[in-house]
Amino acid sequence: MNQKPTIGVVSPCYNEEKVLHETTLQLNNILQKLVSKGLISDKSFAVFVDDGSKDKTWTVIEECVEKNAFIKGLKLAGNVGHQKALLAGLITYKDEADALISIDADLQDDVNVIEEMITKFISGVDVVYGVRKERKTDTFFKRNTALLFYKIMLKMRVNIIHNHADYRLCSNRVLNALSEFNEVNLFLRGIIPSIGFSNDVVYYDRLERFAGESKYPFRKMAAFAWNGVTSFSNYPLKLVTIIGFFIFIICLFMSGYALLAMFNGHLVPGWLSTVLPMYFLGGIQLFCFGIIGEYIGKIYSEVKARPRYFIDKKID
Ligand code: UDP
Ligand code: MG
Repeated sequence: MNQKPTIGVVSPCYNEEKVLHETTLQLNNILQKLVSKGLISDKSFAVFVDDGSKDKTWTVIEECVEKNAFIKGLKLAGNVGHQKALLAGLITYKDEADALISIDADLQDDVNVIEEMITKFISGVDVVYGVRKERKTDTFFKRNTALLFYKIMLKMRVNIIHNHADYRLCSNRVLNALSEFNEVNLFLRGIIPSIGFSNDVVYYDRLERFAGESKYPFRKMAAFAWNGVTSFSNYPLKLVTIIGFFIFIICLFMSGYALLAMFNGHLVPGWLSTVLPMYFLGGIQLFCFGIIGEYIGKIYSEVKARPRYFIDKKID
């Protein structure tokens, strides 16, 4: 790269009034430092996307834009969720930068590896994934459910980077490719690896949330993991077929046994042997219908192809 690249940092915020003063300050300082070092252009910026917060997040963003030279704000019309809010930031600002870095607003991702990400980008890498070294600060529950999440994804043949969340740098051409994905059920950490281009990783320690509470309780995390599986893999559907096949084989054997018993004169008079398989098959069928239903639900929302977000305001 001949010229200094313009780098944008994109951070989705939902009810983050408590952390934004600190986050904007830190990012502003880092950008300032990198500009003085001559690594990036002075057109670089950090944009905070207000995802329809109910608290004073937008007012705080406006204050921070006033105070810090590198900070911008984008306000969405309503709450659309982390993934779509991030996408809104990435798509809106992709043409204003050579690469965009996505990061959570709560300072859990170590901002000090931004420089390393940018150095890798300058050396020609298109996607730089931030990968967590250890999860010392996560609660026991969060750590283990997260690990289980990566394991299940791997089993379900979803191509994701282990221990990578949404802290990453994407070059402009990767973002252009991303803008061609029209899906409503967004799972960015599955989409980005599927785009291709050269990639690399940087390692960092995941810190404690700076202030405020997690917006990802277990219910939301489970929904997110399930969305990841069903958006990227038809494996559950295949599983339905496999389960169905084995049950069919078992039923064949059972019928054979029943016939034999009948010819030998001692009929199986059991109530249990009739009712049990009925319950069993009923259960399995419901389960399988459920999985198929999930996908049909997904087809429904994709077919509607509704807009994923609306922008209310933009300030710099
Ligand atoms: N977030 C968002 N919209 C939502 C929920 C969360 O933009 O509906 C943002 C949130 O402000 C934060 C990031 O997504 O910057 C990650 O959320 P959080 O830190 O609560 O998740 P955790 O780190 O606990 O998994
Ligand atoms: Mg967090």
